[in-house]
Amino acid sequence: LVARMREFGTTVFAEMTALAVRTGSINLGQGFPDTDGPPAMLERAVAAIREGANQYPPGPGVPELRQAVAGHRKEHYGLVYDPDGEVLVTVGATEALAASVLALCETGDEVVVFEPYYDSYDAAISLAGAVRRPVTLRPDDGRFTFDPDELRAAVGPRTRAILVNSPHNPTGTVFTPGELAAIAAVCQEHDLVAISDEVYEHLTYDGLTHIPLATLPGMRERTIMISSVGKTFSVTGWKTGWVCAPAELVRAVQTVKQFLTFTAGAPWQLAAAYALREELGWVAGLRDALATKRDRLMAGLSAAGFGVYRPSGTYFVQTDIRPLGFTDGLDLTRRLPELAGVVAIPTQVFYDHPERGRHFVRFAFCKKDEIIDEAVARLSRLH
Ligand code: PMP
Ligand code: GLN
Repeated sequence: LVARMREFGTTVFAEMTALAVRTGSINLGQGFPDTDGPPAMLERAVAAIREGANQYPPGPGVPELRQAVAGHRKEHYGLVYDPDGEVLVTVGATEALAASVLALCETGDEVVVFEPYYDSYDAAISLAGAVRRPVTLRPDDGRFTFDPDELRAAVGPRTRAILVNSPHNPTGTVFTPGELAAIAAVCQEHDLVAISDEVYEHLTYDGLTHIPLATLPGMRERTIMISSVGKTFSVTGWKTGWVCAPAELVRAVQTVKQFLTFTAGAPWQLAAAYALREELGWVAGLRDALATKRDRLMAGLSAAGFGVYRPSGTYFVQTDIRPLGFTDGLDLTRRLPELAGVVAIPTQVFYDHPERGRHFVRFAFCKKDEIIDEAVARLSRLH
């Protein structure tokens, strides 16, 4: 294995899901729902296979999906993208992120990331031979946020891009207009590209709505906007995502993407196009259900003795384990199956400064109510 990938080993999600399977524990670690997406969307994928959508689709994605993505962006955000040239279908948001970083960064270039960061970000940056410049999100009045001065200080002459993720995994923060404006200002002052991971765009709570970075003045021309079907339609196994950006940036990402995977699976693309056109009502119901599950898990974890942060988006609750007398989340999550029959994610693995996240553990609430209740009952044994 090349030196630049040696620090990566197995992703924490695979490790923790394997631990859950091996021990028969309740898996509140890896974020995937335990109920299916809209039935008609599932049927559309089956029909697509039956109808013969089984050979290579066009490299940039099937026109129907590119049109549906552009239509969705316009209707929800007032953002206009040309489906021919400004939309690229990818194998999940994961490929979109990796291809974007690989397309933009020369060896030794720097990418600003907010830590804790989603684990594929640092791997993509390392694959590109680039260097990450972390800006730490810290809890302030119960909500994870950043210091704009720290963001400014992270940018140097070699900085090429900033990776933004709102709603943010794993903290649940939805960036405010002020936070987004601070990011936009830095991008424009230093001529950076923003790679904006918006896979949780529809999963916001408490009346908050998602604001795409590209809608801020001066940002559409320098933002690679990324999303996917996994979270929105509860099909994390479909690995179908997309990039929206100005044509020049899409061409750059596509140049890389075509040699990573060439194209993305055809049946999923057709079903995703259908879902973006017809199933946003279903998504509104999902969001309402998840808001209730969030409250259920938060209340349970509080009663079990955890310090709990209220997420405004995503399907994760961030907790502080110190009130229970624990100090190391990695150690605790590895023992949690034996202590309580539950699996969770140690947040510290998402930091360049693990000591800043040592006492945080993430729990997923995209699960049936009875699963959440049983997990909480088991976790109540910890104190
Ligand atoms: N970004 C974030 C923040 C995520 O949580 C995930 C996990 N789904 C992804 C990207 C990857 O998305 P996909 O499954 O579409 O590749
Ligand atoms: N995005 C999911 C999470 O954060 C997991 C993705 C994965 O397993 N790579 O839990």
